[in-house]
Amino acid sequence: MFYRRLHTQILTTLDSLNNGEFTFSDNTAKQDLQLLTQALDASISGVIITDNQQPDNPIIYCNKAFEEISGYSRNEIIGHNCRFLQKEDRQQPQRAALAEAVKKGENVTVEIRNYRKDGTLFWNELYMSAIKDEHGKTCYFIGVQNDVTRRKKAELDLQHQKDKMEKQVEERTRSLRENEEYLASIVQTVRESLVVLNPDLKVLSVNDHFVKTFKVTREETEGKLMYELGNGQWNIPRLKELLENILPTNNPVLEFEVEHDFPHIGKKLMLLNAHRIELEGQFRDRILIAIEDITDRREIERRKDDFLSIASHELKTPLTTIKGYVQVMQKLMPADVSDKLKEILRKTSIYVERLNTLIAELLDVSRIQTGNIELHREPFNFDKMVYETVDHLQAAQESHQIKLSGKATDNYNGDESHIVQVVNNLISNAIKYSPDASLVEVHLSRVSNYIKVAVKDHGMGISPEYHKRIFERFYRVGEIQQRFPGMGIGLYICDQIIKNHGGTLWVESELGKGSTFSFTLPMQERTIND
Ligand code: ADP
Repeated sequence: MFYRRLHTQILTTLDSLNNGEFTFSDNTAKQDLQLLTQALDASISGVIITDNQQPDNPIIYCNKAFEEISGYSRNEIIGHNCRFLQKEDRQQPQRAALAEAVKKGENVTVEIRNYRKDGTLFWNELYMSAIKDEHGKTCYFIGVQNDVTRRKKAELDLQHQKDKMEKQVEERTRSLRENEEYLASIVQTVRESLVVLNPDLKVLSVNDHFVKTFKVTREETEGKLMYELGNGQWNIPRLKELLENILPTNNPVLEFEVEHDFPHIGKKLMLLNAHRIELEGQFRDRILIAIEDITDRREIERRKDDFLSIASHELKTPLTTIKGYVQVMQKLMPADVSDKLKEILRKTSIYVERLNTLIAELLDVSRIQTGNIELHREPFNFDKMVYETVDHLQAAQESHQIKLSGKATDNYNGDESHIVQVVNNLISNAIKYSPDASLVEVHLSRVSNYIKVAVKDHGMGISPEYHKRIFERFYRVGEIQQRFPGMGIGLYICDQIIKNHGGTLWVESELGKGSTFSFTLPMQERTIND
């Protein structure tokens, strides 16, 4: 308002000057004019006046502040249209707003990019006010201007930051959504039933597979305690204990079998694995349970085992007869029989024996499967047994030297025939899987109250990922299958035999660097000699 009053007075004065009505002899007017001019020059806002009655609306007045803001001197300003301040930057929408206001003789406020004489940009906050005569015709415009570059820059920086952040948030949200969709599609595709529990073991969510497998709805599942589901199929004290222990101990539940007559789906065998979800934040302390229906798989395995058992029994009977006949033939053979026939009989006997061992092993497997393997413990001289086994193997083996060292005990209470089988198997494997080496070392020792036997070869070795699996039945390391004969059951039987005696069997090996198979057996009863 202050400016408007001043401007009105200046214009009246300028008008008076223009109309020749004003004379400097009028002292009061002269003083007023001086005062007003001084006031305007003291202002920190730039002030210009344009004459709308002249062609192109030229500037007819500017104060000192405007000279400072624009960098132009008064001489370079007066007579110009204001547009010189925008230099080449003519496309600004604010210019249209100004033009519109000039046309209509209205007041307007804009923030516009202007350029100083030296070419540098400054943001001009321009308030333009129209001065009208008594007929309403716009005669002059007064422009009050402030350099708001700093504020504008701060605003622009802020806006820029805001835009950037919004973009980042948008980007992040999109990628989170994508991740979520990606994970959800995996979870829904998995062919296992998945359940997420909260720390109180209440069901938070289940996947589609769960709903389909157990023929339930989400409503009757989610929000319920795991033990309340169905007809209490998961309400097993041992399972409860294991699940409750997951969060405090971080121990997962592995391969827990549940056989149950489930509602809607009948008798099934389910395999359960449960882990803590390793996430912080809102998903902290949740438990993921994966449930697999292994009913069919177990049934197929059972049938395979049955077949194996029947087949090996069926093979065993005729083979025993053949073995007997070969022995009779060897006995009844006349002394003058040809060497060729003798050799044929000798070889037949060897192959029959080999077949016999294989069938015996298969029978062992099915006995282990059905838990029918019997242990006949009797005291025997352990060291002697190993020495004799080595001798026996060495006699039939020219390619390798079997070096035996150390002592364990001469009195061990166990199933000798079973332990012989283990030693035999480990040494035979050591020979078989080291075709390019010539030495196999067997070492006997006593470690505390245990017997220890180590069989070391310098052969092909086994990479660590197979160290556990080779003790499974029928498991053979992939790449050797073609090169070496075998059924992958020797180590499985050995492991069971050693376990039956309360001991452990393990391997230490690296691919290409040979293997050492060792087992320990606890000395059961201490005898007088021991
Ligand atoms: P098989 O020898 O009939 O395959 P085993 O149960 O005795 O069956 O052995 C299982 C697998 O373990 C073998 O197929 C072989 O891959 C690996 N293995 C056993 N002993 C050795 C060894 N001394 N060196 C390298 N690999 C071995």
